[in-house]
Amino acid sequence: MHFDCQERYPVASQHPLAHNIDYTLVPHEIIAQRIRELGETISRDYAGQEVVLVGVLKGAMPFLADLMRHISVPTVIDFVALSSYAGTSSTGVVRFQKDVEEPLEGRHVIVVEDIVDTGLTLHYLLQTLSLRNPKSLEICCLVDKPARRKVQVSPKYLGFTIPDRFIVGFGMDYEEHYRNLDFIGVLAPAAIAP
Ligand code: 5GP
Repeated sequence: MHFDCQERYPVASQHPLAHNIDYTLVPHEIIAQRIRELGETISRDYAGQEVVLVGVLKGAMPFLADLMRHISVPTVIDFVALSSYAGTSSTGVVRFQKDVEEPLEGRHVIVVEDIVDTGLTLHYLLQTLSLRNPKSLEICCLVDKPARRKVQVSPKYLGFTIPDRFIVGFGMDYEEHYRNLDFIGVLAPAAIAP
């Protein structure tokens, strides 16, 4: 069960960055409610067990911070940082910039990501982490943009499905900005460098 976001909400005009945002795709209250539901679902699914949340830096940071506070089973957090390079071919190459510090063998691992787009990043990450022999390995993703998928990735836990738009906010950036917005918005064309 996840939400299909097609609506356009106005941008709260008092927000200092409002003039750079075309429209709001997911308002803060809806994000907060959905993250609460995801945390409750994870708590039920892993009742009596411990989970290791592996956040993908930097974008998953606010999502993970909110999600973990709605998980009621024992929870350990760790982070990876990845960089992806669009090579000369259509296949992007993903590299680790930071690995996890926790051993994953025999543990229930949930990768927490901001958005899945082509799927290349999560596909690579899952392949790599599965070699560490976790007891289980799942994905919890705030946003899915299925239109541009290149490899199959199916998050077990998903917040929202969105159309093919470049979004910012709630951890997601454009040139390192807008991560601090508490809503998810679509950037105005004028705010994108030519
Ligand atoms: P994928 O490997 O699935 O194509 O891309 C995943 C990564 O691309 C995300 O973690 C995110 O950093 C970036 N990305 C993909 N779509 C968007 C988008 O609409 N907005 C932002 N800010 N980043 C995106």
